[in-house]
Amino acid sequence: MITTSRPTFPFTRTTKSRIKEVDFSNIEFGKYISDHMLEADYLNDSWQTPKIVPFGDIPMSPAMLSLHYGQSVFEGMKAFKNKDGDICIFRPQKHSERLNKSLARMCMPEIPEDLFIQSLHAIVETDKDWIPSTEGASLYIRPFVFAFEPRLGVKIADHFKFFILTSPAGAYFSKPTKLKVEKTFVRAAEGGTGFAKCAGNYGGAFYPTQLARQQGFDQVLWTDAKEHKYIDEAGVMNVMFLINGKLITPQLTSALLDGVTRDSILKLAPTLGTTVEERRVSVEEIEEAFKKGTISEAFGTGTAAVVSPIATINIDGKDYNLPTAGPESFQQRVKQKLNNIRLGHEADVYGWNYIIHV
Ligand SMILES: *Cc1c(COP(=O)(O)O)cnc(C)c1O
Repeated sequence: MITTSRPTFPFTRTTKSRIKEVDFSNIEFGKYISDHMLEADYLNDSWQTPKIVPFGDIPMSPAMLSLHYGQSVFEGMKAFKNKDGDICIFRPQKHSERLNKSLARMCMPEIPEDLFIQSLHAIVETDKDWIPSTEGASLYIRPFVFAFEPRLGVKIADHFKFFILTSPAGAYFSKPTKLKVEKTFVRAAEGGTGFAKCAGNYGGAFYPTQLARQQGFDQVLWTDAKEHKYIDEAGVMNVMFLINGKLITPQLTSALLDGVTRDSILKLAPTLGTTVEERRVSVEEIEEAFKKGTISEAFGTGTAAVVSPIATINIDGKDYNLPTAGPESFQQRVKQKLNNIRLGHEADVYGWNYIIHV
């Protein structure tokens, strides 16, 4: 999809750019926030025209409802400088759909797709100089919506705010991780909010993750809330396994986050000659596959790293190890292919790229 003109939202330019403070050769993730932000209010039952203003603090009431009752959702996505020097925002429609599912689950007002995409376009183009151009680097985009109405009673707010912040991100290579299959704590239960990118899901995951870290693991491998028998996700990533050469991943349920990276990899796998199975994946199946030597790879998927190799899975106190994933591994090849599509080295046959000519 290609667009040409930047949406004309009210714009206040910063008088003091901070871009010179950024060391683009060594960017620490999330450390620098670009000069401007997009801000919109939901008032009187409708989204008002967004405005672009200098990034900065906002005045808020300590009685703001989102602080008390958790109506707060976000997205995480990326823009790239492609090989022609144009801007590519990756899969904005898919992120819009997911944001609206999150908002609906939390009784928050949905944002029309064209308003969302115009907002992305406007803020990314405004701060286009913040998009790093080094290979693998990107501009991380953080849209979020929260209840703004001040009130102490438990209620659905009637005033919400929508913001978009952006932040330059370096090429991110995840080191191989060590995961613990979690059978005590739960991230999400079916019927709950696991499929929504709502703030509370992350707050609730900190404690079990901290315990796992104290035990020497990087992350937990979440299992289903009912039986702790089936694998859901790896920390804040979706998870995939290569068993007997097939790509196997837990099917989506209301307890799983529908990752855009997950979806993209599942679509690309057949073009790399790899069969996909989306179904329930039991811990027992993974343990068996380790014992039989039929598992060759396991990795997490997410916007931050695309793929994050898994080195060790700990099941009931026993470590099972995987070899380092080399350039010929499925995960490295699919990551390369995804990056090639985003940067324009390969045809975007799926229409994933939203291109802004600059
Ligand atoms: C965001 C997220 C993912 C990954 O989604 P992407 O769209 O691929 O970035 C997976 N699991 C959880 C819990 C997440 O919050």
